[in-house]
Amino acid sequence: MKLLALNCNQCGAPLEVPAKAKYVTCNFCSTQLSVQHTDKVAYTEAIEEIQERTRQMSEDLKYLKKQSAVEDLDRSWRRRREQFMVRSNQGELSIPRKGTAIGVGASTTIAGLLWMGFAANMGAPAFFPLFGLVFIGAGIFGAVRINAKADDFHHSHRAYLSKRHKLLS
Ligand SMILES: [Zn+2]
Repeated sequence: MKLLALNCNQCGAPLEVPAKAKYVTCNFCSTQLSVQHTDKVAYTEAIEEIQERTRQMSEDLKYLKKQSAVEDLDRSWRRRREQFMVRSNQGELSIPRKGTAIGVGASTTIAGLLWMGFAANMGAPAFFPLFGLVFIGAGIFGAVRINAKADDFHHSHRAYLSKRHKLLS
């Protein structure tokens, strides 16, 4: 049986190891060693260290997976957020808010009432002031729609944040 002359990786003691052995226990310090073979040389390595390195690698991998899951989640949220955006009269995109809905409803109602008062004072035909009602109706419809969107956005945002929190914990 061919023997390899190696050294213990922990205490440096000389060891004689069968050429085909994969594991050996040091006679001096009792460390369990793994016999590593490369093309040209053989050496020993403490098994505990190998286990520690493997553990570290699997932790790094877990961390990387977590990172990429969070990035995926963030990306899909950004896309979803775009779909919620409402366009203002000035053409700006913004997140739907309850305040916006109330503002839209109130301002169109006031404008509609003013129109009705104005048209009535002018002595315009009866259908003229009634246009004001159509205007108010459209405004309220818009306000309800923005309000529903704001609720929807709020729920989606919370779901996203709690998912993200779970991923990171
Ligand atoms: Zn040793």
